[in-house]
Amino acid sequence: MATYHSTRSRIEALSAKQAIRRGIAPDGGLYVSDELGERRIDLAGLASKGYLELAREVLGLLLPDYSADAIAACVDEAYGDTFASPEVTPLVKLAGESTDAQALPSYVLELWHGPTSAFKDVALQMLPRLMARTNAADEGAADKIMIVTATSGDTGKAALAGFADAPGCGITVFYPEGKVSRVQELQMSTQEGANVSVCAVRGNFDDAQSAVKGIFADRELAARLAASGVQLSSANSINVGRLVPQVVYYFAAYAQLLREGAVEAGDAVEFCVPTGNFGDILAGYYAKRLGLPVAKLIVASDKNNVLFDFLTTGAYDRERPFYTTTSPSMDILISSNLERMLYYLADGDCELVARLMDELAGGRYTVPADLLARIQEVFGCGWADEDEVAAAIKDCWERHGYLIDPHTACGYHALQQVAAAPDARARVVLSTASPYKFPRAVASSLGLFCPPDDFACMQVLEKATGTCAPTQLSELREKPVLHDAVVDIDGMGAFVEAASAKL
Ligand SMILES: *Cc1c(COP(=O)(O)O)cnc(C)c1O
Repeated sequence: MATYHSTRSRIEALSAKQAIRRGIAPDGGLYVSDELGERRIDLAGLASKGYLELAREVLGLLLPDYSADAIAACVDEAYGDTFASPEVTPLVKLAGESTDAQALPSYVLELWHGPTSAFKDVALQMLPRLMARTNAADEGAADKIMIVTATSGDTGKAALAGFADAPGCGITVFYPEGKVSRVQELQMSTQEGANVSVCAVRGNFDDAQSAVKGIFADRELAARLAASGVQLSSANSINVGRLVPQVVYYFAAYAQLLREGAVEAGDAVEFCVPTGNFGDILAGYYAKRLGLPVAKLIVASDKNNVLFDFLTTGAYDRERPFYTTTSPSMDILISSNLERMLYYLADGDCELVARLMDELAGGRYTVPADLLARIQEVFGCGWADEDEVAAAIKDCWERHGYLIDPHTACGYHALQQVAAAPDARARVVLSTASPYKFPRAVASSLGLFCPPDDFACMQVLEKATGTCAPTQLSELREKPVLHDAVVDIDGMGAFVEAASAKL
């Protein structure tokens, strides 16, 4: 069942397990399968299915070399009791006056009820379980895996929570120093576990992510690590094992809409997705290929609106100013998973993808006009600057009595900017983080007085809104800091090697 290959060539065919173990292809491409959409999810029975059942179905389709028993065990471990909601990803209707010009019902899909209060838990509770069910025989000889991840804020903690003390695995997380929120930093620097390493980097997320890609491509480092039985892998959203679990909640949202009577089976639904690395929204495209009636997928960006420019002009230009915003997990100029979207919408043209990615290394590329037209049929786009993010948080609270974080606010704003597709029957904004992960930005958007300490901000927010901070965030205040290393970009490789030596 070797169905996976690189977006940049078909030279090597891998099973899903091999692709998950490797993370990224040796030529720098991402693993894709040409079987995507050959088998589909049956819509008729969707309404009666809960999250775990849907997860078993979707994962079974996309990861064909895992046995049904293995998938079922992964799903139980990942979602059985780790999420603070029986729906896992509950859908909430925005009450009160519609914010939508066509007065379509609008919903929020809350993806942040997992252990770290961000949507990345959905994938990162699953990835270690999938990885644990691969073995050295699937891929090379190494018996231990070192996960290396660069994070713009949320991936790091979610990956640490997923991989801490996972058998046969270590994890190293790099985050850009001073460019994540205080709560995000403490979530990582207080992480426990014998196999975890956390390090701040002097640079921004793109610098760190590029350096991680360089570490993966470093053959000499790989040889030294292999000699001590260690192989590197990735927990970034370039790993198929992270992408696939995210496809599930698009179906789960639709099932909830069916149960509520908001749509009938077959009605199209629009999804608006706060986007950075293009992983979350790409999962929506996978869901569409698996048969979900998706009207349009709206890419919502913050002030780093490189995707908005690309989707409107066809030119992707990473040579632009980088802004540090209140939505750090979307502060990204090189959106890695876009490569998979290009692959599929260019009908599997590996040569074209390889050429475009080569050009990107030099700064920019432009896609052919017919490809752009095809992309625009599937994806809409909007973006919010920081004032608009703050205004969106306030508007959503005042209009609907519903509190959103700055990332979700980009989606909320984009939904108002972009007219609904004519065939859409409902619109869903994906909510990617608890507002309590970013208490300062949220409280100040509401015009509340913000004390210097983020935890005091949480209390201000609780009092003013009558909502409650997740305990896993409020209790961070009491936890000891266990990781305080800081390195330059070119010191990251040595840090990984030192961390691997401890496995
Ligand atoms: C990671 C993240 C995003 C962006 O998701 P991508 O899959 O990278 O597009 C948006 N919001 C939050 C809160 C995140 O953590």
